[in-house]
Amino acid sequence: MADKYEQVLELAKRRGFLWNSFELYGGTAGFFDYGPLGAMLKRRIENIWRDIFVINEGYYEIEAPTIGIEDIFIASGHVGGFSDPLTECQKCHEAFRADHLVKEILENPDTLSAEELTDVIGKNNVKCPECGGKLGNVYEFNLMFKTAIGPGGKRMGYLRPETAQGMFVDFPRLVKFYRDHLPFGATQIGKAYRNEISPRQGVIRLREFTQAEAEIFIDPRDKTHPKFKDVADIVMNLYSQDGQANGEMEKMSLRDAVTNGIIAHEFLAYCLALTHQFLVRVGVSPEKTRFRQHMKDEMAHYAADCWDAEILSDRFGWVEVVGIADRTDFDLKAHAKQSEKELSVYVSYDTPKKVEKFVVKPDMGVLGPIFKGKAGKVANALKALRLEELSGDVIEVTVNGEKIKINKDSVKFETVTEEIHGENIIPHVIEPSFGIDRITYSLLEHSYFEEETKEKVDDEGIRIVLRLPPEVAPVQAAVLPLLSRDELRKPGNEIVAKLRRAGILVSFDDSGTIGRRYRRNDEIGTPYSITVDYQTLEDGTVTIRDRDTMKQVRANISDIENNIFDLIYRGKSFDDAGKGI
Ligand code: AMP
Repeated sequence: MADKYEQVLELAKRRGFLWNSFELYGGTAGFFDYGPLGAMLKRRIENIWRDIFVINEGYYEIEAPTIGIEDIFIASGHVGGFSDPLTECQKCHEAFRADHLVKEILENPDTLSAEELTDVIGKNNVKCPECGGKLGNVYEFNLMFKTAIGPGGKRMGYLRPETAQGMFVDFPRLVKFYRDHLPFGATQIGKAYRNEISPRQGVIRLREFTQAEAEIFIDPRDKTHPKFKDVADIVMNLYSQDGQANGEMEKMSLRDAVTNGIIAHEFLAYCLALTHQFLVRVGVSPEKTRFRQHMKDEMAHYAADCWDAEILSDRFGWVEVVGIADRTDFDLKAHAKQSEKELSVYVSYDTPKKVEKFVVKPDMGVLGPIFKGKAGKVANALKALRLEELSGDVIEVTVNGEKIKINKDSVKFETVTEEIHGENIIPHVIEPSFGIDRITYSLLEHSYFEEETKEKVDDEGIRIVLRLPPEVAPVQAAVLPLLSRDELRKPGNEIVAKLRRAGILVSFDDSGTIGRRYRRNDEIGTPYSITVDYQTLEDGTVTIRDRDTMKQVRANISDIENNIFDLIYRGKSFDDAGKGI
């Protein structure tokens, strides 16, 4: 029997959600096209993400190039270390992830070096899974697609392996945009590219995929969140470091997780809550979702804490779909070093601070007559000296390359109290990073049902239904004249026009039996089907059918667009859809 992945992909391909890319030319692994329904489904998921992160949290979206210059990826560490261990079969020349080939033999093969993996493969006599041939030495294969910018290949570039770097590189501009006010964030939804070694997991591991990322810059001295109290009672499946050590996942409120030090701080916990709310709203099953903390040896050395949202998939088990990390000041420091620019924010104090400061006061009455036109520069050079440079009887300064000796009597020192109004600090970065394609696939899998119905269509009592939330369903309403006759088509077309004006994506279908048309719409997840019949001509009403319960109510055409809009977007209950006739 076909597993769920095969069932979902069969439907997805047949009905225009997902197609293998370049099919006409035989296709290639790691690329998928979104067909007409898939592209719309994905866009709706992205728009819910925008609604949460951009509209509700105020983290404006930016759009940076998908090609980046080499400096960016030297700073980010991708040039030096964004690689997977590769081994090639000496006979059929197929390439494999070496760590994947030994995962039955060792517990954490991804922590091993290329040499160690070569050793494990040799000692355990691991052979090519395709042809049984001998495997070659393991080496680190960089996953970035390299390209030359402009003719002549003088400047190297890479297709970005994540959208995040665009936000870091624009940091100086973003600081000004947000008028130096922490916390602030920027988001980006767009393509990322990774030249995965041997993507054999269908839509789960792609070479071109869409990420939605937020980089939230926060004050490192305050990792609380003003809205944490609003989400503190949300209970989620948490799979903490300790939980993993004991093989136990716990249902826990975010308040308890922060209080008990399981999640490092409120700000990170708030981002876990946003992720949870997003996944539930798009239709991923909360029972099949967990938040797994990175183990100590898995976490990047600079990260303060890191959690992955994982979704249970029938074929692939728990799949990481979102990474949420406190990346501290690593990225900004790395880009500051590479670009030789200061990347910091001036933070004003609520009340000015008083600090004691040692100051040098050159005596201009003495220096002026001695140094004349140069006296000002000599005085400035003296002011720049540190306390330890002023110990001897003669002080030396350099002005325009000339070394000048000055008698200590020409300079006075004192300690003054100064008022400081603020300081430059390097923000810490909280990064929620979403893989939209994995979420889209998981959603299809979780909403796919084959169920028995009493209403047989063409002798078939099983219906396939995609129980997508109405807000994400690609086609939101279908208008179905009961019979293919002009007198029923006309009011049907009028309803289509009204719904379109209300921004609802609607289809019109008058071919085949009504049962078959319901089934076609159930399969693509259309939440509401509107049937025009002979009663419509008499009293101006139609039936609205609910996809999930298959219940029908009669409703007026006069405000059908508001009725359907409220059902899709305002949480109106279907039982209320027929009221007011
Ligand atoms: P990462 O930067 O590796 O933490 O990736 C962030 C998110 O991007 C992951 O949680 C995945 O959802 C997604 N992702 C990473 N690699 C791939 C891939 N090869 N294909 C599809 N999605 C991916």
